[in-house]
Amino acid sequence: NGIMYSEVRRPCRVLLLLNPHSGKGQALSLFTGHVQHMLQEAGVPHSLVVTERQNHARELVREADLSEWDALVIMSGDGLLFEVINGLMDREDWEEAIQTPLGILPGGSGNALAASIHHYAGSQPVASEELLVSCGFLLCKGLVARLDLTSVCLGSGGPQQQRLFSFLSLAWGFVADVDIESEKYRHVGAARFTVGTLVRLASLRVYQGKLAYLPAESAESPGPSPTSPSSSPPEVPSPQTHATSPHGFCSSLVCRSSQRSPGQNVTNTFHNYCNSNNAFKAKRGDLAPASTPRGPPDSLLVPLDQPVPSDWTVVPEEDFVLVLAMYQSHLAEDLHAAPNSTMEDGLIHLFYIKAGISRATLLRLFLAMEKGAHLATNCPHLVYAKVRALRLEPYSAKGTITVDGELVDYGPVQAQIHGGLARLIAS
Ligand code: ADP
Ligand code: MG
Repeated sequence: NGIMYSEVRRPCRVLLLLNPHSGKGQALSLFTGHVQHMLQEAGVPHSLVVTERQNHARELVREADLSEWDALVIMSGDGLLFEVINGLMDREDWEEAIQTPLGILPGGSGNALAASIHHYAGSQPVASEELLVSCGFLLCKGLVARLDLTSVCLGSGGPQQQRLFSFLSLAWGFVADVDIESEKYRHVGAARFTVGTLVRLASLRVYQGKLAYLPAESAESPGPSPTSPSSSPPEVPSPQTHATSPHGFCSSLVCRSSQRSPGQNVTNTFHNYCNSNNAFKAKRGDLAPASTPRGPPDSLLVPLDQPVPSDWTVVPEEDFVLVLAMYQSHLAEDLHAAPNSTMEDGLIHLFYIKAGISRATLLRLFLAMEKGAHLATNCPHLVYAKVRALRLEPYSAKGTITVDGELVDYGPVQAQIHGGLARLIAS
């Protein structure tokens, strides 16, 4: 937002969180070797914090005085950004905190968001250090755009219920198993997914459960229409294109709204959630009580112990090889899994593969995915739908579900997209 950034003090301060164990364990030397001088030349002062353990970044961001920072940038794989986003959403002032511009520098083995923003910038696919340099350049440019987040509810209700915020993916079956099993191949970097895929193909299995979703075309946008006079979003700045000022990084942290079809202003829809719910009418600084659930309400979901609403589609099959929900284009540096996705299309791109697919066909699908060509193979076992919410109820007591590549509690899960809830330095 132009007004906000014209007020930002200079020099702009970036908090850079780096996981030294991500990827091949070289994130720190990659940073000093490839990015540090770029930031210096672009006049982007930064404080580097090397994380000491899992959840260090999440705790730090949860407690931080965010007025001290103009952007939070992570150098790691997707797992560290997952920590940062959930740290921001843990806060009582989540609504303001999640407006903090985020940035990503690929230093991990799973660099899906970095590959996605590189792709959105219109660049040809690259890997490893080249991807890092590309993302370093985007960071120096400093254009901020909206990023969709998905709220993920785990557990069948009651006290064990857990809510997470996800920026990338929700996976069950083949992809989730590869995600977790391949962690032991982290030393080979991004190639860990190729190795993991081949290993999993050898022991291909079927996963049983119930899947349902709310198709995007039938979903009404929640809350009043964005043009409704009652829906004034006073607190959260709306994404307006703003000319880049020549005064360096801070003034070039401008918000850019992606193109969308008329009547589909998802960012305003988020404002409307807040306006339509008394719990979210609090003014800035007027913090909600500790018991108030964090984050916008999930207006499309009903409790997990109730049947899905009648406008949802219940998938007839119950035998799957994988279920994969994506909200960005790339699942890994070389897996262009959701070619239609954009940063804030307000959509969950849902893929599932029905049981009965041969190993050879599944391998062909993954090979085609490198170029985003898997949908064009017209594989009868692969189903793709654009949805706004979904529910998955695995039948087995044990198994693996991943959110943004991270292991989460196994069991029934449901999720809903919140268009443009976060902001990301990209373009
Ligand atoms: P990669 O892509 O290599 O897996 P991630 O950024 O996804 O890299 O990080 C992997 C895991 O390490 C995540 O679960 C993250 O929360 C965790 N983590 C972050 N910092 C540290 C640390 N200093 N030591 C150990 N684990 C960490
Ligand atoms: Mg998307």
